[in-house]
Amino acid sequence: SSIPKIVILGAGYGGVMTALRLQKQLNYNEADVTLVNKHDYHYITTHLHMPAAGTDSPENARVSISKLIDEFKIDFVKSTVVQIRPQDRKVILEDGTLSYDYLVIGVGGEPETFGIPGLKEYALNIRSINSVRLIREHIEYQFAKYKREPHRTDYLTFIVGGAGFTGIEFVGELADRIPQLCREFDVDPQLVKLINIEAAPTALPGFDPELVEYAMDVLRKKGVTFRIGTPIKECKPDGVIVGEGEEIKAQTVIWTGGIRGNRLIEEAGFETMRGRVKVDEYLRAPGHDNVYVVGDNSLVFNEEGRPYPPTAQIAMQQGVAVAHNLVASIRNQALKKFEYKHKGTVASLGKGEAIGIAFGKKYKGWTAAQLKKLIDLRYLFIIGGIPLVLRKGKFF
Ligand code: FAD
Repeated sequence: SSIPKIVILGAGYGGVMTALRLQKQLNYNEADVTLVNKHDYHYITTHLHMPAAGTDSPENARVSISKLIDEFKIDFVKSTVVQIRPQDRKVILEDGTLSYDYLVIGVGGEPETFGIPGLKEYALNIRSINSVRLIREHIEYQFAKYKREPHRTDYLTFIVGGAGFTGIEFVGELADRIPQLCREFDVDPQLVKLINIEAAPTALPGFDPELVEYAMDVLRKKGVTFRIGTPIKECKPDGVIVGEGEEIKAQTVIWTGGIRGNRLIEEAGFETMRGRVKVDEYLRAPGHDNVYVVGDNSLVFNEEGRPYPPTAQIAMQQGVAVAHNLVASIRNQALKKFEYKHKGTVASLGKGEAIGIAFGKKYKGWTAAQLKKLIDLRYLFIIGGIPLVLRKGKFF
């Protein structure tokens, strides 16, 4: 019989971990492994709020895939997946076709706009290296334009939709960046507005209320205005409509209010909830024993029947589990059930400030910020060892 073909779609947290583990665990000629990704680099999504605000270079948030994987063991294909055909065991790429015996889908999520008119057209999203470069340039450009049209203060109003972890981390960075931009462009800081709008009755819904209050205090002191319990009703080219019809004029809207699964998955005919596949206990798509789904495209439920939020943390653990189960399948061994181990959550609030819960304890301020750095360095170490830590790590 021929060697089984494993195809991994997406080199995000889930896909990269699957590939790295397979590379380590498979013996020579046990399987053909192909990793497909849109870009020839992996991006560290959990850092993207920094280059988006301009407080760090986008280079520090990406790693070339050839530096991560051993190309003698794994074929890397730089291409975009356009269709998944589970009934034919094929994947259609923009420039070719791949057939597989086992498939791992890890192409990451897409912004969820909840059908709010205009968000898709006019809001920016923090999703990739390309999207954060656009945000960073766009923000600078608004300062430059304001200098030519000083009556247009809407150039200096920055709206962030969503006060979940991504929204909060981004406003923390942008609040740090604004004073620099004001100096660079000779703009009075009083004229700049940074508004974080959230529909839920609190920022960071579901998180520890004491830490949420601490976070909001820190951010308010840096100049952030919160509009909590205020749904965005519409996004327009020149601002947003909120609540009962109030209009806020702004030339910049950044939407961080939600993530859904990738449309490729619905189009492939998998059963989905908000674009995500409710995977079985081994992380397979129901009815497809040879298709695994990881990361933002999968839905895993806890004992109380509630879905875990999509995070890098769960995606990485899923990658490890999927690699194990792929190797077991190939060797005709028993599969292992996936069990998520939540290690904690830490959110940065800009330079030197963060909040978090880890090891059953609450952290805030400088200590939490150090913890965040450790988590980031640990990730670099896991995927790329000491060399990557030294090249991309942020120690200060
Ligand atoms: P992703 O990391 O989304 O990667 C998907 C990959 O697939 C990308 O490389 C993409 O280029 C590729 N791809 C997409 N479409 C195609 C296609 N059609 N063809 C080929 N390739 C394709 N989580 C945490 O646990 N902790 C945090 O502190 C944290 N902070 C965050 C901060 C920010 C600013 C953001 C935006 C997210 C944060 N998250 C955090 C969430 C976390 O980043 C995601 O849950 C995680 O990235 C999901 O990983 P994934 O494996 O599903 O795929």
